[in-house]
Amino acid sequence: MPNKVKLISTLSGHEYQFERIEEFSDNGESLEVKVPGIESAKIRKGRYLWERYIDFLPFSNIDESISLGEGNTSLMKAGRKLIDFTGLENLYLKNETQNPTLSFKDRGSLACIAMSKEMRESVTATISTGNMGNSVSAYGAKAGINVIVFVPHFCPKEKIMAMGIHGAVVMKIKAPDYSEMKKHILGLAEKFNLRIVSGNGPVRAEGYKMTSFEMFEQMDGDVPDYIAVPTSACGHVRGLFKGYTELRQAGFSGRVPKMIVVQAKNNSPIVSAIKQGKKNIIPFSNFHTVAEAITSGNPMGGDEIIDKAYKYGWPAEDVAEDEIIEAQKRLAGSGYFVEPSSATCLYAVKKLKESGKIDAKASVVIILTGSGFKDPGVLKYHKGNVKKMNLNGVERALQKVLTFGV
Ligand SMILES: *Cc1c(COP(=O)(O)O)cnc(C)c1O
Repeated sequence: MPNKVKLISTLSGHEYQFERIEEFSDNGESLEVKVPGIESAKIRKGRYLWERYIDFLPFSNIDESISLGEGNTSLMKAGRKLIDFTGLENLYLKNETQNPTLSFKDRGSLACIAMSKEMRESVTATISTGNMGNSVSAYGAKAGINVIVFVPHFCPKEKIMAMGIHGAVVMKIKAPDYSEMKKHILGLAEKFNLRIVSGNGPVRAEGYKMTSFEMFEQMDGDVPDYIAVPTSACGHVRGLFKGYTELRQAGFSGRVPKMIVVQAKNNSPIVSAIKQGKKNIIPFSNFHTVAEAITSGNPMGGDEIIDKAYKYGWPAEDVAEDEIIEAQKRLAGSGYFVEPSSATCLYAVKKLKESGKIDAKASVVIILTGSGFKDPGVLKYHKGNVKKMNLNGVERALQKVLTFGV
């Protein structure tokens, strides 16, 4: 790795070694990777994103043998229906469902597995109810690193199966509170010298920042005004922000987009705090939301995001259950089948536009974080248009549809 890469705690500025096994500072703050010399970083030639942006990364090299081909996801202008729905003329969709395990988590898993390789570790672990465990399991399988996934007892069978097929050991844990369970397990990392990667680890965020580099190229060196991110553990939103911040530090762009922090109303520890002007997260417990992938009720390191929201003027919005389902339907009606968690952003930007917090002309990117195919249970909220008939009824039914419409 390049010399003197450090970890800095995001609020108090304490320095730690890059090799640190624990993902948070001693007082529970999130940690950030500091690569020296970002100011003079160059964008290089190379086939892969990590080759072109290697100066920005805490690794001297990422070997192709640990990648599953993450990234290269599409960034496209939204169609007329979604523009009309939100009232935003310059709305873009970054489709992270196109990643190898169908969510953006793969970008962070690449970075975490690269770290394990660099440290010559043979085992890594994570705590997850779904996408994260699935992604780390797949990347471990590719790189030849054993994976342990801790899941809470309520984790659906299908999600556990998706981890198991890659060969991960799944530990299913009976714990009354998922946040408590996470804290307890993360506390074991140092004791067992085991890298237990969470959704808000410093190295994971380095993987997520590559999304910003990719979008920077896709927009020909331009930067959007806003990026809307469904937020749970907080790694994604801060990784995206870090990527654009570093592009500015290196002199490639003049400005940094504002992040839009989006959560489900039923579990909004960060958005509620920002709306109420509080400095610390407001923990949620015993809630239910259809947006399963964003259910950290008490995210470690979440205060950093609140701090940044005030510092940089980030809008924050929460989305009610019926709004989430409607947004999912609207996106599917435009060709994008995403998880409920990803759908939250569409409704959030509509509300922010209506309340005048976002201008109709602003360029806004919504990140479609995960695929709807991962969560088929949610289809019960959506009525399909199925007509039943026997063979000799087809002609009449077809004529009716073609005459009177679908
Ligand atoms: C993990 C996840 C999120 C939340 O990202 P964080 O980095 O935990 O804030 C949002 N959407 C989907 C589909 C996810 O899997």
